Amino acid sequence: PKNRINVLLLENVHPVAVALLKAEGFNVESYHAAMTEEELIQKIKNVSVLGIRSKTQVTAKVLEHANRLMVIGAFCIGTNQIDLKAATAKGVAVFNAPFSNTRSVVELAVAEMIMLMRNIVDKSAKMHQGVWDKSAKGSFEIRGKKLGLIGYGNIGTQLSVIAEAIGMKVLYYDAEEKLSLGNAVQCKSMDEVLKQADVVSLHVDGRASNANLISSREFGLMKRGVIFINLSRGHVVDIQALRENILSGKVAGCAIDVFPYEPVSNDEEFQSELRGLPNTIITPHIGGSTLEAQENIGNFVPSKIMDYINTGSTSNSVNFPNITLPKLENAHRLIHLHHNVPGILAKINKVLADNGINIVGQYLKTNETIGYVITDINKEYNKDVIKQLRSIENTIKFRVLY
Ligand code: NAD
Repeated sequence: PKNRINVLLLENVHPVAVALLKAEGFNVESYHAAMTEEELIQKIKNVSVLGIRSKTQVTAKVLEHANRLMVIGAFCIGTNQIDLKAATAKGVAVFNAPFSNTRSVVELAVAEMIMLMRNIVDKSAKMHQGVWDKSAKGSFEIRGKKLGLIGYGNIGTQLSVIAEAIGMKVLYYDAEEKLSLGNAVQCKSMDEVLKQADVVSLHVDGRASNANLISSREFGLMKRGVIFINLSRGHVVDIQALRENILSGKVAGCAIDVFPYEPVSNDEEFQSELRGLPNTIITPHIGGSTLEAQENIGNFVPSKIMDYINTGSTSNSVNFPNITLPKLENAHRLIHLHHNVPGILAKINKVLADNGINIVGQYLKTNETIGYVITDINKEYNKDVIKQLRSIENTIKFRVLY
């Protein structure tokens, strides 16, 4: 029965998510703040579904105590706050919302390019002090300018399309081979983009190797008067190098939303070498923070969680092999998760054959560490079959649907 599935939602996830999970019949508890490791360890024992945002740290130690946990929903983009290795080893599927706030980030990037090209922030600040400084000097349209995108994923591609629609020329570099949308031009290296772009905008992911991707050498390659935007991750830019390049006039303006260190709460002062610099927009990591994005996330993540619980589907899971499964009709579904070693499928099928059980449908997918086998059968099975399947060596988790 679904009311035995305890759902714990932390960090004030959107009410739409609470409503969806309640409507499914789950027992939902929602809490407004994050929990510390200790609090979560106390709480996690009876939880089957955990919903968090970016603040709650789901450590290996928390997971050790999570014996009923099936799935973690990260109601955000990043999943660094979750020990994914430990979750996988424990057989806990993790889902996030990889593109629910893409549009919000893109809109902000477009707005900031225009504001920076016109020096609006400084002009507005001066006006508030009574200074009327009317001049066209250093002000440009973005039409016809070259936008250089570093990272052509969900955000980079969407920005590419919208920037072209307002007349920019788009160049991009991505670490992987990508389909160029519209008239965007793929470059062979990041340097090639940096040398040509009037606006450089970073949209790479937060992998550790991207630390200081943009530093003195890279600023050196850029055109004088470049506009620089980072709405990706804070460690990607060497902030001291950025400061020097703004002060020297090499960078004519910048918009930075993410920082190597970000205050943990609104009560903490924001400290940065970027404070007080000219034509510099600094924002508190709000690129994706719109009510629309929150609601999108609130709809997206529960749908993934419910699919996983109800059918075993793992599409969009960040740590499980991704399979989209058909709905079950007149069958039982055996879901078997194991360490990825040879011979498991054969062992599962031997148990079924030995018990005279015919297979209606079977699906297998593996990643580097785990294998995921779904077997639909249409015959009654007994407890002993389940016991035998559970005791196959290297089994991480086993469950039966219907
Ligand atoms: P994505 O994973 O879809 O795209 C990232 C792309 O960057 C991938 O195509 C990848 O191949 C490429 N890449 C990674 N390292 C690279 C490198 N060194 N050089 C060239 N290409 C590289 O991610 P996304 O959804 O487009 O998000 C992009 C970034 O924006 C992420 O860092 C994400 O965390 C961040 N983000 C920030 C906010 C915010 O509030 N400011 C909101 C959402 C996302």
